[in-house]
Amino acid sequence: MPLEVRLNHRSGNLSLPTPRDAGRTTHEIYLSAPDVGPLEESFLVSALRSGWAAPAGPELTAFEREIAERVGVNAAVALSSGTAALHLALLGLGVGPGQVVVVPTLTFVATANAVTYTGARPAFIDSDPATGNIDVSLLPELLEKLQASGQRVGAVLPVDIFGTCADYSALLPICAAAGVPVVEDAAEALGSAHRGRPAGSFGAAAALSFNGNKVITTSGGGMLLSDDRVLVERARFLSTQARLPVSHYEHPEVGYNYRLSNLLAAVGRAQLQRLDEMIRRRRQVRELYANLFATVPGVRLLGNCDDEANCWLTCIVVEPDRAGWHAAELAAHLAGHGIESRPIWKPLHLQAAYENSGGLLTGAAQRLFETGLALPSGSMLSDRQRATVLKTIRAFLAASG
Ligand SMILES: *Cc1c(COP(=O)(O)O)cnc(C)c1O
Repeated sequence: MPLEVRLNHRSGNLSLPTPRDAGRTTHEIYLSAPDVGPLEESFLVSALRSGWAAPAGPELTAFEREIAERVGVNAAVALSSGTAALHLALLGLGVGPGQVVVVPTLTFVATANAVTYTGARPAFIDSDPATGNIDVSLLPELLEKLQASGQRVGAVLPVDIFGTCADYSALLPICAAAGVPVVEDAAEALGSAHRGRPAGSFGAAAALSFNGNKVITTSGGGMLLSDDRVLVERARFLSTQARLPVSHYEHPEVGYNYRLSNLLAAVGRAQLQRLDEMIRRRRQVRELYANLFATVPGVRLLGNCDDEANCWLTCIVVEPDRAGWHAAELAAHLAGHGIESRPIWKPLHLQAAYENSGGLLTGAAQRLFETGLALPSGSMLSDRQRATVLKTIRAFLAASG
């Protein structure tokens, strides 16, 4: 019986809403819609026909090998989410109750949640205003403060925010000197690099995400990467309910149901073949914004515009005093024309779930939240959609200037 698979081919005129936009029907142009088409369809269908419709199978093994090769690490385990990858990475380093983990306050909540799942607590560190990434200059003081007060720092968890790598050349020596391991949250950064070294290869372990809005997607999924094969094999064991490889069900400890589906790994393999092309498209979009805003006073692009970033999301930062308008006003104008934009991550120390967590804060992340805006950046954007977004922004600038 032929399978009917309806997907969002590039030739189609509308992009699929990302899951978090599922309730909003007004947008016609999305921030970062899944970019899937005939190649993903053919990989998925052949995986389905192979009979391996399970969280085990040859696509998983191949996807892990291909990502590990691409990132240049020894070992990888494919998981149901990036959050699961962060959780198992921290467990693998022995992070648990009574410890603190240094987490940037400007990130998606999953970074801190993974820490909380282990029983440890996050200590938040503020952002470098230029990139939004962890402000490495604050790190020695924070580590010293935490360690001097008798707290055990289980890990530092930098995030490669919006696809720009943290400053690992500065960060890694500081953590090494303090004797604290690093876990890289590379959820947004597959295909990026720092001084020629790929995102996902820094620290003791790293996490990737393949959620629907990320650079490549499996609809939902993630991967833990490390050069430490023992850590990765332990994560693999914990991800399958800590089941021993014997025929009856033998569980020496409490594990998790965190393994990725073999079907979704097949989608991931197709996406990985297209990664460079998709990054090229995101970079083009970023360049269009860079050109558009180059002469606009009070507006800058967040992060690097160099060729090392995957340009997952292009964000602008608007100083209202100089620009004469607020980022939120541009957002409202875009929404009025069916175009999605979104504030930069709301800092975690301002979230009710994490209030009073402590750390070292300068106000930089809060300022970025108040003045920043993420613009449509997806590889799915057609030439026409790009032109529509640019035209709509130009009209706003003309009316606000
Ligand atoms: C998306 C994301 C995650 C979580 O990934 P999921 O696959 O959605 O669990 C973690 N950290 C950051 C910075 C992210 O952007």
